[in-house]
Amino acid sequence: MENNADSYFVKGAGVIDEVDYTRIERFNKEKTEKLISLYQDVINLIEPIPGRDGLKDTPERVARSIQYLTHGYNIDPVKMLESATFEEDYKQMVIVKDIEIFSLCEHHIIPFYGKAHIAYIPDGKITGLSKIARVADAFSRRLQVQERLTMQIRDCIQQSLNPMGVAVVIEAHHLCMMMRGIQKQNSVTTTSAFTGIFLDETKTREEFIHLIGTKLH
Ligand code: ZN
Repeated sequence: MENNADSYFVKGAGVIDEVDYTRIERFNKEKTEKLISLYQDVINLIEPIPGRDGLKDTPERVARSIQYLTHGYNIDPVKMLESATFEEDYKQMVIVKDIEIFSLCEHHIIPFYGKAHIAYIPDGKITGLSKIARVADAFSRRLQVQERLTMQIRDCIQQSLNPMGVAVVIEAHHLCMMMRGIQKQNSVTTTSAFTGIFLDETKTREEFIHLIGTKLH
């Protein structure tokens, strides 16, 4: 791919390509220039010596990094899952455990990070395990709250695969709680969302929770 008027490419963090999900380091030029100027204003407002050397390229770095950290907006996870489904008769629980998630709390634009555990029980359709992790990534790389993130992942899998049930548990540390506010260093926030058989059958839900090895509340 070549540079053109609307976008340019750099090494390092980039925006995930919507089609094949490889990292192609693509940024919108106009958006990036605007962000650079805005971050320069922020630095000028908070830093006593805004012109010093170490901060020279910071606005551009942050302008790129914020676009990478929110690249989930460029991905349509339902479309992505639907394009990667296979007919299969398997009707047991499929669990993808310990998916690392990195997101930004939408109230403070400060990270929260942790693990997602996702399960579904197929009803004729399965998808690649890596695609499940991609769904978590597509929704977490946005401005988020953990509760909505949990439900969006659940609903996306339910909608795309129409399985007998979906279970999602997320455990996360919120830096906005740890660095400011009440400064609770070790607290973990756990959220969960279920559909279908995971809602209806206590046994199935308990099996899932046992298999991911997490205490829920
Ligand atoms: Zn926050």
